[in-house]
Amino acid sequence: MAQFSSTFLDELISRSDLAELISRHVDLKPSGANLVGLCPFHHEKSPSFSVSVDKQMYYCFGCGKGGNAFRFLMEHDGYPFPEAVEFLAQKAGMPIPDSKPVNPEEAARKKSGLELLDKVAGIFSRTLNSDEGKKAREYFEMRKLSPALIQKYQLGYAPAGYGFMKRCFGEDNHNLSNLESIGVLIKNERGYADRFRERVMFPIRDKQSRVVGFGGRILGDGEPKYLNSPETDFYHKSHLLYGYAEHRESVRKHKMLVVVEGYMDVLAMASYDLDYAVAPLGTAITESQLNMILRLLETPVFCFDGDKAGRKAAWRSIERMLPILKSEHSPRFLYLPDGEDPDTLLQKEGKDAFEKRLKEDGKPMLETWVLGLKNIAGDGAEGRARMAKKADVMLSTMTDDYLRQAWQGEIEKATEVKLSLQKPAQTLSRSKQPIARKPAQYLAVNPMKHDQFMAGLLQNPVRFQNLPDDAFDFFIDTHPIYPIYTRAFSLVGDEKNTELDIAAQLMREFPDNQHIARWVNLPIVDDVEFQQLLMDMHITYLNGLHGRSKDIGVKMRIIKELKTLQVQQKQFNKNLSHKESL
Ligand SMILES: [Zn+2]
Repeated sequence: MAQFSSTFLDELISRSDLAELISRHVDLKPSGANLVGLCPFHHEKSPSFSVSVDKQMYYCFGCGKGGNAFRFLMEHDGYPFPEAVEFLAQKAGMPIPDSKPVNPEEAARKKSGLELLDKVAGIFSRTLNSDEGKKAREYFEMRKLSPALIQKYQLGYAPAGYGFMKRCFGEDNHNLSNLESIGVLIKNERGYADRFRERVMFPIRDKQSRVVGFGGRILGDGEPKYLNSPETDFYHKSHLLYGYAEHRESVRKHKMLVVVEGYMDVLAMASYDLDYAVAPLGTAITESQLNMILRLLETPVFCFDGDKAGRKAAWRSIERMLPILKSEHSPRFLYLPDGEDPDTLLQKEGKDAFEKRLKEDGKPMLETWVLGLKNIAGDGAEGRARMAKKADVMLSTMTDDYLRQAWQGEIEKATEVKLSLQKPAQTLSRSKQPIARKPAQYLAVNPMKHDQFMAGLLQNPVRFQNLPDDAFDFFIDTHPIYPIYTRAFSLVGDEKNTELDIAAQLMREFPDNQHIARWVNLPIVDDVEFQQLLMDMHITYLNGLHGRSKDIGVKMRIIKELKTLQVQQKQFNKNLSHKESL
């Protein structure tokens, strides 16, 4: 995170519109000082998701997710932090200041590599439209891909022969070595040669829509039928999905995401305006890809061929998904009729019937899993035992406790075997839940009050100035929010910070702490409420101090202070009820 200056991040947050960012996914309506809507992180029927426009923070009172614009992009859209910054900067039209990258050479090399990849994609695309590209154009025509679609996905053509890149870039060794580093040239004892020859080309983009590699399909009968870029500094096949960058927006709009086998399935669907499919890049789906999928939409449909290979692929996906599956997720599995793929089915039954199939015929993951287990285990009592055993092992990889218990119940019903449910192996547990710290006893009495108190302070930081001298100790140092509270104090106390947005600054310093976002999204704590809370907190604090103190003189002083306070409190409440009765 040290890469960006805090001034830059501040400016970026203040120029970004969090409500706009969120309203692309959530229908937000005004409620009091904030906006509210249905939480995009968990399923709910009545809105508990709140956005504070004033403080530029969101918080869900249902599931506890909260933060600023960076956090939203990271948690909701799966951006790594630097990419979230880049995305917002681009949106706000702010150039990213020349950060001091750990290695400027490395950064420059990366930039020129990406530029080169983009250039090569352009060359393939132009070649498709040249005389040389006639055969490739005919292939796409046969596959019913329109020129507009070809342009949108920047499909291209790499002609036959080993010297096409040299024709385009010249014989300069430096250039050729760069082309090798991005994966389009191979170096052998006779020098550099083209990797992709006589193939139709599919540029593969990363999350930021930058071309990072290529897939190529042979024209005619050669081998291999599909050839992808090798692993390079830019292309990591297990972290990329074909169609992800192109379809991300549309997936969110339609609330549909279909995972298919390959490029041509993605494109065949897109040619029928079903622009919400993605595909792994020629290998079995990885956990990282599954994470991208589930983060993009909680209800993806995994589409497989109905044959044996398809069932095997589905099983692999289930195994890989178990450790990351949460109860919010509802993936479904759809087997296509034997011998069909999305392209052939679309041609046979048309768009509407195919879309209906996608929406209605997919089976929940649990059902698919149980069926798969039955197939593996076989019949009879022994079969049920084998099934229980296999299920037990697989369940132990799950990290969502509730989901695991629910699934365990289903398996026990199906097998009539009580599962021992091995404790998840430590190495498999990815749960990041910190071990809860035991809060100090007397402070735990009414956590609601602490919450309200902090909300009142952060919503109106001027209140920090008027706290009693001993307020610094209201949250003793074992309380989980003590570090935030004291940090807020020191921020307010520093004269340089008169204009500083305290909540935003705290959010930056405690990026993983969800309390801050919650406090600013709680209903406004007005002056009367705050005054009551303040007296309450003060009295609670003094009572605690009295209990812990051994010195009789100190005890006496505390009792005196307590009495004064209690009189004040009485008077305050009396005035209040007097005012209310008027
Ligand atoms: Zn929620």
